[in-house]
Amino acid sequence: MSKAFDLSGRVAVVTGGNGGIGLGMATGLAQAGAAVLVAGRNAAKNAAAVKTLEALGAKAAAAEADVTVQAECRALMDAALARFGRLDVLVNNAGINIRKQPQDYSLEEWKSVLDTNLTSAFLCSQAAYPAMLKAGGGKIINIGSMLSIFGAAFAGPYGASKGGMVQLTKSLACAWAKDNIQVNAVLPGWIDTELTRAARKEVSGLHERVLARTPAGRWGDPADFGGIAVFLASSASDFLNGSAIPVDGGYSSLA
Ligand code: NDP
Repeated sequence: MSKAFDLSGRVAVVTGGNGGIGLGMATGLAQAGAAVLVAGRNAAKNAAAVKTLEALGAKAAAAEADVTVQAECRALMDAALARFGRLDVLVNNAGINIRKQPQDYSLEEWKSVLDTNLTSAFLCSQAAYPAMLKAGGGKIINIGSMLSIFGAAFAGPYGASKGGMVQLTKSLACAWAKDNIQVNAVLPGWIDTELTRAARKEVSGLHERVLARTPAGRWGDPADFGGIAVFLASSASDFLNGSAIPVDGGYSSLA
């Protein structure tokens, strides 16, 4: 592997890294040499993810954390520092969706989606900043969505959170470039995970519509996210800052 993509000696925290796209990214980072701490609320999923990463020969750990709680975001970064001694990479990936027509959401539902998907990224980035400064730089990878770009009738709060994620990415990139911290977003297309298994049950015809509209002719797989994670976490992307990169099998390119 080219040195530019080598993550040996680097430490990454992946929120929602115990499954789906987060675990796909954690796997890529681990394969490139990083020590990885995955965070999620579900202890059993956390433990299984650590086993998967350790089976690759990587150093791995998990922390039970709810990223909607500021103190838990801070504790997460402290856990990475305590376990691995430094922090270089943060992947803000934890996310949920509640699918309804806009008129049917309660305020609590709106807040729950915004807090989980967007505010958490802000809180975790704030919490990671001092350790990245100390390390002489860092990489933050924010997970957006096709709904960062497009609208969907059933995804008002989710779309707002994912659009916000792109703008948060740009602001953090502008603020922290001077500290050698690069902040970029990844916009996944339609990927086969627990999240979208639920969506396919709730939104009739979704599976077929996605297949028909995706030039690659398939749903994405979490393993499709290892490469972009390594690129954005490594020195290969040092001059890339504030961007939002679709990883979507061409979905957003089709008129
Ligand atoms: P999954 O449901 O498989 O994973 C979501 C992850 O987020 C889980 O690891 C979950 O862990 C974690 N999580 C949720 N809420 C919290 C919380 N409050 N605190 C800590 N962790 C939390 O979904 P995906 O892998 O599909 O989604 C990952 C990201 O990718 C999300 O941001 C999603 O919006 C985005 N995305 C997904 C797409 C897709 O097609 N799948 C498309 C576009 C974007 P636990 O339950 O243990 O807390």
